[in-house]
Amino acid sequence: MPFKLHIILLLLGTLLAATTAASPTHSPVPGGIAIIPLPAGTLAASFQDNPVFITGTETQPFAIVGIPLNQPAGDANLTINGKRLAFEIMPKHYAEEHLTITDRRKVSPPPRDYDRIGRERREMLDVFASFSSMSNHELDPETGLAKVLNFELPVQGRISSPFGKRRILNQQPRSPHSGLDIAASTGTPVVATAPGIVAVTGDYFFNGKTVLIDHGQGLITLYCHLNTISATAGVKVESGQVIGEVGSTGRVTGPHLHLSVNLNGVRVDPALMLNLP
Ligand SMILES: [Zn+2]
Repeated sequence: MPFKLHIILLLLGTLLAATTAASPTHSPVPGGIAIIPLPAGTLAASFQDNPVFITGTETQPFAIVGIPLNQPAGDANLTINGKRLAFEIMPKHYAEEHLTITDRRKVSPPPRDYDRIGRERREMLDVFASFSSMSNHELDPETGLAKVLNFELPVQGRISSPFGKRRILNQQPRSPHSGLDIAASTGTPVVATAPGIVAVTGDYFFNGKTVLIDHGQGLITLYCHLNTISATAGVKVESGQVIGEVGSTGRVTGPHLHLSVNLNGVRVDPALMLNLP
């Protein structure tokens, strides 16, 4: 009996099924999200010279701050009207992963691909660096935070690679994993995690068929390796609206969705927005 129970718990732990939308988790670690109470009346704040997402009420505003993965633990500061508001970043250890990619061109691309890769990288970084004032201020009465922060699971599947893993591709160290991979069969619908405006769609060298959604105030989601895209740049999408299908386009070892979440120009752990283990 205990063995059977163990198996069931194991399955519950890895299989992601659609539930109600999650609210963001305060996790002030490298690659995490800090939810910081601000002095009454605060309308704007910045972290490392980037404006941050502000929500809450006039009497109790909050900053939703993305912390870079390479940020050392210890003291950090928000800047509010030229004044500093200190907060503490706790340490976190991320695991290491070895991957073998058979398409060598996708591991060490030949120089003829450099222009394309550079152009696509700039296009994505421009979106991540943007800070649009969108009407995302409607509050969830339970959390006191903007409803747009309550993310829906973008696809039903299994976590195949968590955020932050340090990756070694064919024995070559690469940047840590900047998103969350959810494995599912090709053709499984992918939905928008929250309402927003489709910023860009494209078919990228590394990321394959890709959609970027701007949810306002620097909160941006990225969906990669899609089989098909059913979203159009410049068009509004609702939470849970289908934007494409799971696929294996770009640099992949099998069909999955790569989801990245961006706050104040920083990629943070999507599991903190989706309330995943
Ligand atoms: Zn990924």
